[in-house]
Amino acid sequence: MIEIKDLHKSYKMGSNVLHVLKGINFKVEEGELVAIMGSSGSGKSTLLNILGMLDGADSGEYTLDGVPIKNLSETKAAQYRNKFLGFIFQSFNLINYKSALENVALPLYYQKVPRKERQEKAMKYLERVGLKPWADHLPSELSGGQKQRVAIARAMAAEPKVLLADEPTGALDSTTSYEVMDLIQKINDDGNTILVVTHEEDIAHMCKRIVHLKDGVIVEDKKIEQVRAEQYV
Ligand code: ATP
Ligand code: MG
Repeated sequence: MIEIKDLHKSYKMGSNVLHVLKGINFKVEEGELVAIMGSSGSGKSTLLNILGMLDGADSGEYTLDGVPIKNLSETKAAQYRNKFLGFIFQSFNLINYKSALENVALPLYYQKVPRKERQEKAMKYLERVGLKPWADHLPSELSGGQKQRVAIARAMAAEPKVLLADEPTGALDSTTSYEVMDLIQKINDDGNTILVVTHEEDIAHMCKRIVHLKDGVIVEDKKIEQVRAEQYV
């Protein structure tokens, strides 16, 4: 589903250059649930933004569902991003003056889905995250966990193959975090490929595979069974 080879990314800061990603190689198969861990500033968001086609790499190859991203025109890239990728953020990024239902329907509006179908689909996904009774409520009337559920429903509404979540539980207490991760696991069970950036060990342990970033490279990449087995050695 996702394949990256020797990915590099630097940021220019005045006369300084910050080399954040120094040759990242990895592959994610369809249906995986992968945690990306690493200390603050290790480049997790930078990597996720490149995978999400929100930012470009300086060099290296990125192939999404068999298509090399570099060769796409900007228009094609945007179409491709809307079709394949859904995003979930730490701060939910909901629109405050729109109801839960309208927030979920928004990506469908941009996809020019007709109004009735939009409403129906949005309601279906709100129901899926357990928030049908909250459809008419504004984000300000929802708890943090509920807001994240709306954001997850919104990410799913466009029916992407891959969900990219950057610290999806970062703004939530631990009980709510586990509930949101339960939901992410269920979505993964239904076939979505999901990448979760987190710096919390117990959240990473709810994924099927854990990748560690350090000093611009992947220093560890293990299946959860292996991680668990090693804990008891
Ligand atoms: P955190 O856990 O704090 O979210 P992170 O692992 O997601 O950290 P990134 O946000 O990818 O880290 O940032 C990696 C490094 O790149 C940091 O040193 C950051 O300051 C720098 N950086 C990120 N974005 C930019 C930018 N647009 N311009 C300049 N420097 C940037
Ligand atoms: Mg980050």
